[in-house]
Amino acid sequence: NVDCQGKHVTVAGLGVSGIPAARALHERGALVTVVNDGDDERSRAQAAELEALGITVRLGDGDTLPGSTELVVTAPGWKPGKPLFTAAAEAGVPVWGDVELAWRLRGQDGREPAPWLAVTGTNGKTTTVRMLASILEAAGLRTAAVGNIGVSLLDAVLGDETYDVLAVELSSYQLHWAPSLRAHSGAVLNLAPDHLDWHGSMAGYAADKGRIYEGNRVACVYNAQDAATEDLVREADVEEGCRAIGFTLGTPGPSQLGVVDGILVDRAFVADRQEQAQELAETSDVNPSAPHNIANALAAAALARAFGVPPKAVRDGLRAFRPDAHRIEHVADVSGVTYIDDSKATNTHAAEASLASYDPIVWIAGGLAKGATFDELVTGAAKRLKGVVLMGADRALIREALARHAPEVPVVDLDRTDTGAMSAAVREAARLAGPGDTVLLAPACASMDMFVNYNKRGEAFADAVRELADESA
Ligand code: ADP
Repeated sequence: NVDCQGKHVTVAGLGVSGIPAARALHERGALVTVVNDGDDERSRAQAAELEALGITVRLGDGDTLPGSTELVVTAPGWKPGKPLFTAAAEAGVPVWGDVELAWRLRGQDGREPAPWLAVTGTNGKTTTVRMLASILEAAGLRTAAVGNIGVSLLDAVLGDETYDVLAVELSSYQLHWAPSLRAHSGAVLNLAPDHLDWHGSMAGYAADKGRIYEGNRVACVYNAQDAATEDLVREADVEEGCRAIGFTLGTPGPSQLGVVDGILVDRAFVADRQEQAQELAETSDVNPSAPHNIANALAAAALARAFGVPPKAVRDGLRAFRPDAHRIEHVADVSGVTYIDDSKATNTHAAEASLASYDPIVWIAGGLAKGATFDELVTGAAKRLKGVVLMGADRALIREALARHAPEVPVVDLDRTDTGAMSAAVREAARLAGPGDTVLLAPACASMDMFVNYNKRGEAFADAVRELADESA
């Protein structure tokens, strides 16, 4: 817990986590100073709002630690190597993220704090957390999908709403800054290189993800087909009686959930140990029922079952679940060609999943590679590719990988990084595709070289497809 009264707290970063953190601390009597790297129009407007409450804000100076600081609460994205944190370490000042703050403040208003079912992983977090919330709701529980999903944990924990349980998405950054978090149960969905520039190494990234298992009470849910996630369970310090529960797309072993003849089955939380398996749902209940998404559903089911949710609620919750936009979203069928928007495939591991779901594919890719290599991705997808359209800053990396591993696949390199390139890309893709084919936007890259974010990129794709549909109508 934390006593805020009279405490000098420095909040690092304005924005989605910093503003609720500054307010929450101020309301509890802390003397808050917000430091922020940027000094633009938006941050000035945000600063003015906080200053009106009596909070000090220093814009354009995110590296100097105010002398009186007793605690730093940071935005999750701030890199551990920043001078502010070096100064904090030298002064013996603890650094928490907003998730840590939420964890410490929960229950301080006298309400029974809701347990957290926590999800992390390189890909599938948002989908899994939404599936989980849908399952918990189907079980009649008061719940919400919160965290990295765009809903501040502080708001969830301190707001008027009362919850029985929270479905919490946590990024590797948030976990890094949440040392005392102890979830009821946690899941690492998968582990592939991402954000290595931030964490310094794959080992650092994995260790931060693995923090989700620390102190788990009931279940550490891991991916039985991704050994790295099981390693993290082994390394974690958990409560006595906490079980390691695996999920697999194959036949489940004991203490696992898996798939048998198109049925999602649970061999971990069976009522009677003699019983072989508990049927939960059919794969066709999962939307979309692509393999990686079945894996997400199994992980969500495992966490829900760990919380005691009955099988029927798992099925009802999965049936009620609708995927978020830009995640393998069906946009339209035009002249017999299916157009799929997976703009959220911002890294190669994600793109691999959607490329595995269609055949034959005309693939639209490119953007910011974030240090990734594309050989493995291209090799795996080569047989299903009918054509490729490339755009964006790092498109040459993909073009070269294609030349090495799939030289026979026709490639159109748009040589463009402007927003209008998406419409040209869709037209090129339509030219390469025939009836029965799928045009798939799965960029395997971040979007910020061309678009504000992956949403805008997906919208540009959908707009271009609709234009095409109108013309061919
Ligand atoms: P996150 O919140 O981790 O970014 P999302 O649920 O938003 O994950 O999905 C992001 C993208 O990752 C999707 O568009 C899809 O291409 C891919 N994806 C989703 N689930 C998985 C999974 N289990 N394994 C691999 N890729 C996945």
